[in-house]
Amino acid sequence: MTTPERSDDDVLVPEIVRNAERLANEQGGFPAQEQQPPGLTGRMEPLPDHGESSYTGHDRLAGLRALITGGDSGIGRAVAIAYAREGADVAVNYLPEEQKDAEETAQWVEKAGRKAVLVPGDLREEETCQQVAQQAVEGLGGIDVLVNNAGFQMARTTGLEELRSEDMDRVFKTNLYAMFWLTKAVLPHLHKGASVINVSSIQAFEPSPTLLDYASTKAAINNFTVNLAATVGERGVRVNAVLPGPIWTPLQPATQDGEKLEKFGGDTPIGRAGQPAELAGAFVFLASPREASYVSGTVVGVTGGKPVF
Ligand code: NAD
Ligand code: MG
Repeated sequence: MTTPERSDDDVLVPEIVRNAERLANEQGGFPAQEQQPPGLTGRMEPLPDHGESSYTGHDRLAGLRALITGGDSGIGRAVAIAYAREGADVAVNYLPEEQKDAEETAQWVEKAGRKAVLVPGDLREEETCQQVAQQAVEGLGGIDVLVNNAGFQMARTTGLEELRSEDMDRVFKTNLYAMFWLTKAVLPHLHKGASVINVSSIQAFEPSPTLLDYASTKAAINNFTVNLAATVGERGVRVNAVLPGPIWTPLQPATQDGEKLEKFGGDTPIGRAGQPAELAGAFVFLASPREASYVSGTVVGVTGGKPVF
């Protein structure tokens, strides 16, 4: 038998990496730019890679039904594309002003031959969380995977003394209250083999002074993950978190000084920012009832080499 010709570049540096390296500048980041929150994909330069051309599914989530919050853009869109190509139907929650992004995600899910259900709603209200859960259950016929991915940050230019309660509220309600409320609403629908995947951040381990409130929520998400895993494990439901490093998504130009983006991600051991597509594998693994059957209460870091322990 002859060994097929092997090009090291194709084997060790696949399209997903070539895309990420092409999109980053020499400092690992991107051109200076700013947007109003929540930020829209179409206004980003360059556009992020969500795996549109590179993600190949292998039926690893065949027949599953997933609700992804913040699934319109960034990491959530990459997860939606990967889940659909792995055979899952997908419901996407997002803010009403992100309708255009949500419709584009839905098109990718449908192109993969799967069902897409759009469920707009601001998760800072408990009632909305309950409605979103209900509409997703009705639209998909049930839920097997809940991805608590919606999140908000804002780089603070002043210290704690100046931090206003309404600004804290936006961060704590989006990142923490919504995760509690939505998980509470979805849990009764989760059967043995189902799972919850939360989205933490490198900020949980390496907090930036400008992200005091955001970093606090991300540390809390890690504890919520471990704690909930302990309480629902007996019924066969797994709970995990993905912990991203610096990733090129609308959140970044929408929440900090635009010039900072020029070096965004350059301080990681890999030396560049990550693309949303580079997170998809971790979410697929954690959602898979077969591959992650004994994985619960843990955090998978996708940080470009920044330590997560
Ligand atoms: P993103 O802007 O593409 O996604 C965040 C989404 O959160 C938005 O699309 C929006 O739909 C949703 N959202 C915000 N406020 C909401 C609200 N009140 N109600 C409902 N939905 C709301 O950016 P992203 O970077 O893909 O963010 C996804 C997750 O990844 C967030 O939890 C974020 O904290 C986390 N994260 C991102 C990075 C990064 O560098 N991009 C790093 C670490 C962690
Ligand atoms: Mg968005």
